Parts: sequence; structure tokens; C-alpha cells
Amino acid sequence: MSDVIKQYLVKDEPYYRPVADEVALYEAAYSVRMPMMLKGPTGCGKTRFVEYMAWKLGKPLITVACNEDMTASDLVGRFLLDAQGTHWQDGPLTTAARHGAICYLDEVVEARQDTTVVIHPLTDNRRVLPLEKKGELVNAHPDFQLVISYNPGYQSLMKDLKQSTKQRFGALDFNYPESKIETEIVSHETEVDPATAGKLVSIAERARNLKGHGLDEGISTRMLIYAGNLIAKGVNVHAACRMALVRPITDDPDMRDALDAAVVTFF
Ligand code: ADP
Repeated sequence: MSDVIKQYLVKDEPYYRPVADEVALYEAAYSVRMPMMLKGPTGCGKTRFVEYMAWKLGKPLITVACNEDMTASDLVGRFLLDAQGTHWQDGPLTTAARHGAICYLDEVVEARQDTTVVIHPLTDNRRVLPLEKKGELVNAHPDFQLVISYNPGYQSLMKDLKQSTKQRFGALDFNYPESKIETEIVSHETEVDPATAGKLVSIAERARNLKGHGLDEGISTRMLIYAGNLIAKGVNVHAACRMALVRPITDDPDMRDALDAAVVTFF
């Protein structure tokens, strides 16, 4: 393995609590280098899962958080000018393809469609990446795999992955884990006791039922961990829940009061 890529190895085992058969399915997908799409709401464990899988498979992981200002060059690379003249610098996707890493494009739908199409030749049986500006065709390393995350809730007609992109991937569904497992995760990731973690999960379940009825997104596992961390630091439970669970997800005063009331019900 080249030195360029060694820095991307996941050194310590990330804590990942499997929810169903996703670990075995991903291993099978990797064994045939199938490009993968991890679908699910924000903060439900997709990134943690891919970190865990990279560690388990012993492969380096290069993660790119996608945004709408991202251009194809941000993924593929560009010529840079310095005192010695111009030189080419590989972007993260090229580094992963050239040296054999798992490349994780987080929230790929945020990127513009002209950016998304650069991944196409890497996801069919050619497994190549044309660097048009440089005039080079990179053949993907045998260990290379492309993984994208996708939140089906966010999409509008204007902003969705094209079918021609979607159909290049195998997909795994992620969701907030069932309450027993989520309680286990929250108490593992924070210093709170299981009883407190369980109450946080119950509040989240209330809020998740309001999705589509005034809330765009429910309270995520990530938010429960924030709240748990504050509580473990000695912050008043109600204040911690208001700050970490309620205020971030709603600006509507009625919804805010309803969620604050749910907090008081459980604590
Ligand atoms: P996503 O990528 O889906 O937005 P993350 O992977 O960042 O979400 O998950 C947010 C946090 O939730 C993680 O940092 C981790 O602490 C926790 N988490 C969620 N699901 C799991 C799980 N199954 N096992 C371990 N931790 C989890």
C-alpha cells in the first residue's frame, strides 16, 4: 500500500452496533466491488457504518462531504501553480481510485449533476476515471470502491439523483435503530446511564412521529448523543434537551412547545 494512502487507514475499531444483516451484505458487495448507496435520514449511523466497514476490511477510507458549490475538479483534481510552475494535484476521488481506497461521497445529492456524472465511468465495468484536463485515464485500483450516502427525505424534483446515477449502485436502507438498540448506542457513546438514554430515545420517537406533520426531520441518533453528552456534563436535563433536541429542528413556536412538553413528560 502506498504511503499516500496509508494515512487514510482507520486505525482503531470504530464502535458500530449492527442493526440487521448490513455488515454481511456490505462485505459481499465489497467482494465484488459493487458501488454502494447508503440510504437514510441524517444522523442515523451511515458514516459510522462505512468507517467500521473500512476498518473491518482493512481498507483506507477517503470521505468527501458534498455541497452545491463543489465542482468536478474538487473531486478529480486540478493543476496548481507554484514557484516551480504548474503541477497536477489529484482530488480525493482520483486518490482513492489510483491507490485503492473506499471513497465515501457523503450527501452526494447536494453536488450539482455535472459533478455527479464524473463518477459514472468508475461505477460500470470499465472502472476508469478520465482526467480530461490532464489527458490521463486512471484505471481504478482493484481495491477501490465507491460509496455514496443519500437521504431520500430531502429530495425535491429539482434536486435528486438521476436514475442513470442511482442504477449504478447497490443500496442499503438505514433508519434510526429500534429503541432497545438505540438506547444501547446512546449509553455507549455518552456517559449517561441506560435509563436516561432510554428516556432520550422515547422523546426522539415522539418527535419522529411528527415528521411530515409539522417537522421536516425527526430527532436523530446524533442529536440524542449531543443531549446525552450535555447531561453527563451536569447540564440540567430539560435545558440539555431543549438545546440539543428541540431548538435545532423547529422554528415553529407551537411545535417547539409540543416537543418541550414531551421532554417534561419523560423527565
Ligand atoms: P449519518 O452519516 O447517517 O448522518 P452518523 O454515522 O454520523 O450519521 O451517526 C451519528 C452518530 O450516531 C454516530 O457518530 C454514532 O455515535 C451514532 N450511531 C448511529 N447509529 C449507530 C450504530 N448503529 N452503531 C454505533 N453508533 C451509531
